[in-house]
Amino acid sequence: MDEKRIALVTGGGRGIGRAISLELARAGYYTIVNYRAGKESAEKTVADLVAAGGQGEAVCFDVADGAATKAAIAELLKRHKWVDVVVNNAGVTADGMFAMMPENDWHKVLSTTLDGFYHVTKPLLMRMVARKRGSIINISSVSGTLGNRGQVNYSAAKAGIIGASRSLAAEVAGHGIRVNVVAPGFIDTDMIKDVKADEVAKHIPLGRIGRPEEVAKAVRFLASDDASYITGNVLMVTGGMA
Ligand code: NDP
Repeated sequence: MDEKRIALVTGGGRGIGRAISLELARAGYYTIVNYRAGKESAEKTVADLVAAGGQGEAVCFDVADGAATKAAIAELLKRHKWVDVVVNNAGVTADGMFAMMPENDWHKVLSTTLDGFYHVTKPLLMRMVARKRGSIINISSVSGTLGNRGQVNYSAAKAGIIGASRSLAAEVAGHGIRVNVVAPGFIDTDMIKDVKADEVAKHIPLGRIGRPEEVAKAVRFLASDDASYITGNVLMVTGGMA
């Protein structure tokens, strides 16, 4: 890489986000690891990526909080001037049958994914336009493409992010910016700690749940110039679930 390239990974300290942070740092990006509550994990992720020869920092903000995110991104841009790669990875579940779903569980899940995408991506976009370069990768889910019992809120958020990504891809393609989606299936993180892996694996063509690193490699590919002709795309990392 000819000049410093900078990546921001929301929720980059744990689970899939941690694997993405490590992978992008290994690929040479200065990697900004965002977290909301998991300071220790985020700092450990940064320490690990530095130990592996990379560079980065941990930054705390809640992507669902517009004012806090705006202030944090402004501060980042003051120091770094631009961000080349944004990975909107932060996400939460609040599962339950729709008929019984508390309003708060509906809003919490949608606001983390959809408001989070807006709060994080919008202030970074104009810098990308000015540089005529950028790659935005949004993490959806097989739940957003297939649907899943007990996840009406999560499916709505994860399907919504696909629509947003496709529209934004069309808007910014002429400015040299690509927008893509990675939709993981069942991946071994805290998010699915209550899922019985053996049971779920029976419904996955490749016969097992996935590893965070397998999602991270797909993200690294889409972030890179190797994916220079790919935008508005949804890459399923699901072991064949479709
Ligand atoms: P984890 O529960 O392991 O981690 C969630 C991450 O999101 C944490 O880093 C957390 O930060 C961060 N986060 C949550 N809310 C916020 C917020 N408001 N602001 C900033 N960060 C936040 O989940 P996974 O790693 O499994 O999930 C990562 C992404 O992948 C999510 O978007 C998820 O929906 C998606 N996904 C996961 C699948 C799976 O099977 N695991 C399948 C399909 C999609 P903190 O540590 O600070 O709490």
